[in-house]
Amino acid sequence: MEQQETLLQYFEWYLPAGGGHWRRAAADAPHLAALGFTGVWLPPAYKGHQGQADVGYGVYDLYDLGEFDQKGGVPTKYGLREEYLDAIRALQANGVRVYADIVLNHRMGADEAEEVCARKSAGNDRNRDVSSAAPITAWTRFTFPGRRGKYSDFQWDWTCFDGVDWDDKHDVPAVYQFEGKDWDDQVDGENGNYDYLMGADLDMSAPKVIEELDRWGRWYLETTGVDGFRLDAVKHIRATYFTHWLQMLRQASGRPLPAMGEYWKDDLGTLTYYLDQCGQVMRLFDVPLHFQFHRLSGAGGSMDLRSLFQGTLAGTRPHQAVTFVDNHDTQPGQALQSWVSGWCKPLAYACILLRQEGIPCVFYGDLYGIPHDSIPPVEALPKLLLARKFCAHGTQTDYLDDPDIIGWVRQGESSAMAVVLTDRSGGSKRMCAGAGMAGTVFVDLLGGQKERIVIPENGTVDFPVGGGSAAVWIPENTAETIHRILNAECAF
Ligand code: CA
Repeated sequence: MEQQETLLQYFEWYLPAGGGHWRRAAADAPHLAALGFTGVWLPPAYKGHQGQADVGYGVYDLYDLGEFDQKGGVPTKYGLREEYLDAIRALQANGVRVYADIVLNHRMGADEAEEVCARKSAGNDRNRDVSSAAPITAWTRFTFPGRRGKYSDFQWDWTCFDGVDWDDKHDVPAVYQFEGKDWDDQVDGENGNYDYLMGADLDMSAPKVIEELDRWGRWYLETTGVDGFRLDAVKHIRATYFTHWLQMLRQASGRPLPAMGEYWKDDLGTLTYYLDQCGQVMRLFDVPLHFQFHRLSGAGGSMDLRSLFQGTLAGTRPHQAVTFVDNHDTQPGQALQSWVSGWCKPLAYACILLRQEGIPCVFYGDLYGIPHDSIPPVEALPKLLLARKFCAHGTQTDYLDDPDIIGWVRQGESSAMAVVLTDRSGGSKRMCAGAGMAGTVFVDLLGGQKERIVIPENGTVDFPVGGGSAAVWIPENTAETIHRILNAECAF
């Protein structure tokens, strides 16, 4: 049986700082492998401007993986450099690939400020100036005194950036573009030009910036030995920049280095345009599918399930989709909050784990819960993960033919699985599990349905599902195997 790719985003926003997250990842590796995970996306591993309080996206020093006394201490939020490297080795030793989170769009927490001439761009139309050039004080000099030139003696100054959002001279926030600079092209069109997001925005057309990020990429890959990348905020970075960076690293290392980009937009056309523009060097997270789940979760049963996969990457470009239900930005309290509520989670995870389209990426906060908000783990998730491992193989026959109850059947060489889900009251779906399954007893792995179904001669039967839930019908002996594995894993 081929092992299908299954990813885990191994963090949520509110993990405790100093909580030994890298050590936890290392210790968790055998458990993750047993659940069928083939890859984990680890959070940004370098020092952020808030030190140990930084989730990792406020990048200060890309070379400080928890090694230098900078920003209030040596460790990052997740631990020390050696613990990070140990976690990567432990995961890889268990057959779990490691995807590193790559944040190149901006820098924060500069060591010194500089006087720079800058114009204000209109907040909602960055192509339009709303002031003439005048001196401001910008935090743009990064000298990394705590690192003292180890690994790279490159120092950043304002010429490496296109702009900032703070003038320290007058204490005025605005979008400031440095004189002589243009916002990068090939970026998202929101606000006219969405190059600028936050902090000191890197100028991806400056040769010295490109060179330094190339040098860092080679260093990072050699130092950590990661297997691939999750690329942050790609809509704020010129599309062909990552074409260059990824191809350079793939050539230098001779490794495939798969990449998945975060282009946060609920618009399929924009995502497919970007994929083509960057030369399809990466997959993209299926943001439209996440929003379909979010709408489903709040629609009170009124969503037409026949259209669930319409307008999604999974539905149109399955080989370029990384599907997900929620992440560290969509969780409650975060910038892009659009949380899929608890009742809907089993339905959404059945969609990404048990169908053939896309590579699924499970959220840590769903697997382990979010104590900060008293959100419990999604109880069905381990079962769905093992259902993916054992049963989500072979052909897929869709029954996406009813606004309230949909289903599909997977038929492998010697097994089958029938999935039914509804956002309204319970019912059933008549589906064919295959004549080869005749006489086999099927049960609902998720346990909502208690009956045992004997598959008839022609393989076709009504598969029931309870209200607002999912049912995963698989052969009884496979369900027993899965329960045995889960019982052993609970003792873990
Ligand atoms: Ca940018």
